[in-house]
Amino acid sequence: MNELAIVEYLRKLAARANAARVVRGAPARPAPGKRDRRTVSGAQAASGLILGIGDDCAVVRPRAGEDLLFKSDQIVEDIHFRRGIAPAIVGQRALARALSDIAAMGGEPRLCLVSLTVPQDLGERFIRAFYRGLLAEARRTGTVLAGGDLAHAEKIYCDVCILGAVPKGQALRRDGARPGDAIFVSGSLGKPWDRRIEPRLELGRSLLGKATACMDISDGLALDLHRLCVASHVAAHVTAVPIHRGATLDRALHGGEDYELLFTMPASMRPPKGVMRIGTVVPAKHGKEGEVFFQGEPLPPRGYDHFQQPLQ
Ligand SMILES: [Mg+2]
Repeated sequence: MNELAIVEYLRKLAARANAARVVRGAPARPAPGKRDRRTVSGAQAASGLILGIGDDCAVVRPRAGEDLLFKSDQIVEDIHFRRGIAPAIVGQRALARALSDIAAMGGEPRLCLVSLTVPQDLGERFIRAFYRGLLAEARRTGTVLAGGDLAHAEKIYCDVCILGAVPKGQALRRDGARPGDAIFVSGSLGKPWDRRIEPRLELGRSLLGKATACMDISDGLALDLHRLCVASHVAAHVTAVPIHRGATLDRALHGGEDYELLFTMPASMRPPKGVMRIGTVVPAKHGKEGEVFFQGEPLPPRGYDHFQQPLQ
């Protein structure tokens, strides 16, 4: 495909994903646990997108009473995935990783921009399958594709830039955990890297006004809980972790790429269904903010570090 054909192709894809029939009276958001049955044109209207792919920029009109969330997330061949993975899964993961950060702030996704480079020999088939996976996830979550870029390079590389929104002043942050709070994770840890990611958007929204701190686990529980505790100037005692079937304890603690939510709540508050309590926030000793203990032993903040570890 030449560049013009690609732009046209993307425009058609986005048009198909973003614009369809309108259903009057469709709920602004699906009920918890229900599939999002709003039409995609409903998603486009809700996103605030006024002008999408085809002009120099997308135009978005913000709403009153909201804070906007911005995030970019990149995936690189041989760092985040191998070429053998189905292109549709690569596309799904590329968007879902960014959505997971929107979930971690308690937000709802609005728009995304997708920049993709592919080697010349992979060509059109890869691009189509990649976008099929990505746009299915976009539709499912009410995220509108508002633009992007395509180029050739030696490796597959994708950068997703996402815009989300949260009620003003209510974003779930990392810095609010207090001694005595209970610590939870939203699912099992140590999952394989070649699967779909399930961004915990509904759970994130349900935690607004309840969780004292929240983040998603992208680099492993040990490192991410350490980060949360540093931000909150506290320490943590972890007593147990839910290990994904077939994974080792080491991988569950340090492996990364889990995309579950890690959050804290006052211990007296009833947690949402399906989450697991893993420990308790404790005061940090002087100069030891961020210290994490697992079953009484110090847990080093070791996780997946792109600059230190090869892909396993
Ligand atoms: Mg994150």
